[in-house]
Amino acid sequence: MVTPHHRRKLEQQRDGLLAELRGLGNLMRGSIGEVGVKCGRPGCVCAQGAKHRKVHLSVNLHGRTRSCYLGRDRAARVAPLIAEYERAWRLINALTTVNLELLRGARSGGPRGRRAR
Ligand SMILES: [Zn+2]
Repeated sequence: MVTPHHRRKLEQQRDGLLAELRGLGNLMRGSIGEVGVKCGRPGCVCAQGAKHRKVHLSVNLHGRTRSCYLGRDRAARVAPLIAEYERAWRLINALTTVNLELLRGARSGGPRGRRAR
């Protein structure tokens, strides 16, 4: 059962999380990875087996994996967007936990809660 004091604390937590959620910056889903590639130019180091390291972004959208070449510079700019996406999920999960507790607490006013009083 949620006491009035506990309920107020949960509501404060909920409002704080909502404020943080509204303050989210630009974000995107995806993962940054490195792949080894051969350019195919004869005489290049990669022809001898040393592959070029290429930094890519890959993301699954609507069941299809999209891939985009980034390179080091753009990877450094995309990484904060992915971090922000992960922060959004942490906030959503925390908000879900708080709202679930508030919903369960609201039930204590029902027949079972009345009997306990
Ligand atoms: Zn090459």
